[in-house]
Amino acid sequence: MAGSVTTSVFESQALTLLDQLKAEGFEFQVAEPDILRVRPVDRVTPELRADLQRHKSALLMLIRIGDAGVQERRELFARQLAATPSPQVPLFVYCAYVPYVKGTCFSCRDPLPEPRFGRCWRCSLAWRLAAGVSIDVNLAVALDAAKVCA
Ligand SMILES: [Zn+2]
Repeated sequence: MAGSVTTSVFESQALTLLDQLKAEGFEFQVAEPDILRVRPVDRVTPELRADLQRHKSALLMLIRIGDAGVQERRELFARQLAATPSPQVPLFVYCAYVPYVKGTCFSCRDPLPEPRFGRCWRCSLAWRLAAGVSIDVNLAVALDAAKVCA
């Protein structure tokens, strides 16, 4: 299970597993940074726990991509991209005006987990989805954190 989970993630066993578990009534939550919460816990068998552990990074990615906040941002960023003549790219900013301050996403104003400049994970992931850039969410967060405001 080395390398990026993103390119083949939709064909992966993780998606099958996730669909199956949702159909069985399990609920999933991602707690930052990389904690997968599954409910109800008392139905998680040792076998299931092993499966979840094996596919954890892909499951985290799928759950993040399925997040409603990510999808809203992705739609907006995709419209921004469509409205921007190539080779320019839009800034992919969710709100019209957000102060560029430490600890606040400069795109959507969500609080960041650390007092740094950057985007939240939803905005990071959403603009990459919109732009069709292959994604490693941890890399995306690192890149956005390093980015100086354009
Ligand atoms: Zn954001």
